Amino acid sequence: MAIYQGLAISGNIFIGKVRIFKPHAYQIIHKTINSSEVQSETSKLKKCIKLLETEISEFLHDKKTSQLDKDVLETHLMILTDIEIAQLLDKAISLDLMSAPQAVYTSFEEIISNFEKMDNNYMAQRADDYKDVSHRLLRLLLGNKEEDISFEPDEIVFTSEITPSLVSQFAQNGLMAYCVERGSYISHSSILTRAMGLTALVIKDNIISSLTNGDTAILDSEKNCIIINPEPVQISEYKNKQLSLLEREKFFKSLLSLPANTLNKVSISIKANIEYSGELENVTANNCEGIGLFRTEFLYLNRQTLPDEEEQTKVYSDILKGLHGLPATIRTFDLGGDKLSLLIPTQKEENPYLGSRGIRFSMQYPDIFKTQIRAILKASIHGKANIMFPMIIGVEDFRQAKAVVLECRNELLNDGIEFDHNIPLGVMIETPSAALCSDQLAKECDFFSLGTNDLVQYTLATDRNNDNVKPYYIQHHPAVLMLIQETINSARRAEIPVSVCGEMASNLMYVPLLIGMGITELSVSPLQTLPVKAIIRNCDKHLFKLIDEFDFNTHLVNIDYLLEVTLKHYYTIQS
Ligand code: PEP
Ligand code: MG
Repeated sequence: MAIYQGLAISGNIFIGKVRIFKPHAYQIIHKTINSSEVQSETSKLKKCIKLLETEISEFLHDKKTSQLDKDVLETHLMILTDIEIAQLLDKAISLDLMSAPQAVYTSFEEIISNFEKMDNNYMAQRADDYKDVSHRLLRLLLGNKEEDISFEPDEIVFTSEITPSLVSQFAQNGLMAYCVERGSYISHSSILTRAMGLTALVIKDNIISSLTNGDTAILDSEKNCIIINPEPVQISEYKNKQLSLLEREKFFKSLLSLPANTLNKVSISIKANIEYSGELENVTANNCEGIGLFRTEFLYLNRQTLPDEEEQTKVYSDILKGLHGLPATIRTFDLGGDKLSLLIPTQKEENPYLGSRGIRFSMQYPDIFKTQIRAILKASIHGKANIMFPMIIGVEDFRQAKAVVLECRNELLNDGIEFDHNIPLGVMIETPSAALCSDQLAKECDFFSLGTNDLVQYTLATDRNNDNVKPYYIQHHPAVLMLIQETINSARRAEIPVSVCGEMASNLMYVPLLIGMGITELSVSPLQTLPVKAIIRNCDKHLFKLIDEFDFNTHLVNIDYLLEVTLKHYYTIQS
């Protein structure tokens, strides 16, 4: 028996048999070609690129292809038609005298390793899209067959790397769980994995070479570990756990059409956080009451050109249409920090999280900002759109952002273009200063959404991505809770809605605390909707009384006690 630690991508517990999978075992022969072969190698490559383009386009236009798959395929098509990549390949063949497969392998490896080395998490995690295109091109060039991808339902694939198209193929061929040696939580592959309901984990150690096909394995995504050849007693313990998880799943499904009301009849609205339009399927499947946060900056990442007004109008319109009248809060792009679009030249900053980020970045690039605002306004005729601004520190920021909206509205009016004239404008409360100025802000904006991920980071001076200071990232720190309470009070006085869209809202442990503090709207990861609803339906009048009587200003030391009490009484999922 051996236990290995990892990072859960999705799912919960899976017991099965090891299946070692080598997705792309290519034989690339590294030898210089003659200059007389340059033309034939170039045309071989061009033919394969065309073939792959056709293959991808066919899938794109297939009605059976899901929106998530389409998003990935569109990215692949963009990579394939990228002029810079074409030039790189051309140079590798004609100047460096490489064969077509060697040119593809070498050029893409260089791009992939550059992506993987980047400081910027979001870009680094896009490397797998490039791997996917490279593998598919090599398959066509070398005439390699894909590895056998028919699976037994109890098999767990162990693979050194994963790509979005492999995830799709896995799911289509009946695989239910996999472990991968290289990967990250927010890569395209991982997003697809979650959407397709697979259980998956990234293993930190290089263990595949020590495994044998047929070994028994338990993949535990709850404890972030994998157990190889467990003892019989562990297997039976895990089987029992699986049974209770199944019961829990059934219980969650039974909540689908029930309201998210507390026992004392306080109605809570649960909306969804999304990063890609493809996630709309999960939003509707989980009966979310709309989208509380659309992180639009993802539209600007990992591409060769900025998204223009037409493209953005289509994305926002499709979302609003897909919601059939439910609201969508579209957050203007929150670029800067660790999310940098390579398309916008920026200065290197010593402290990017304290630099040009969110609304500051938008104001620095007014044309790009206006393109987005115009697109949201144009799309607003298709449903209920709200516009929300990130990284606001005070009323001046909001006024400047609002002025851009007004300018865009006037332009559209002059051009006779229709839009929703009453589109609400909101502010993310994610800096301590915004929370402290919330009274003033509430008088001018239409709604608040608490971005606790950043609020915690800025209040506690603790980088949210730095594992070294993880113990200091305390979401229920009294200072954070006081700022949340201050924001709720300001919103109440001005009679504007306030929601929580940071991870605290998705964290079951904090749901009773937030509800007890007076939050009536949560925006969570769509797959977390039903567990959050289960907790809400557990909350009662005693919770409200307990938190109402709690003075965050004078009982600082008692916050842990408060959390303990709320956890004990309300953080239970009854099935
Ligand atoms: C937040 O800061 O809580 C938030 C929701 O925004 P993001 O995580 O995108 O910074
Ligand atoms: Mg934020």
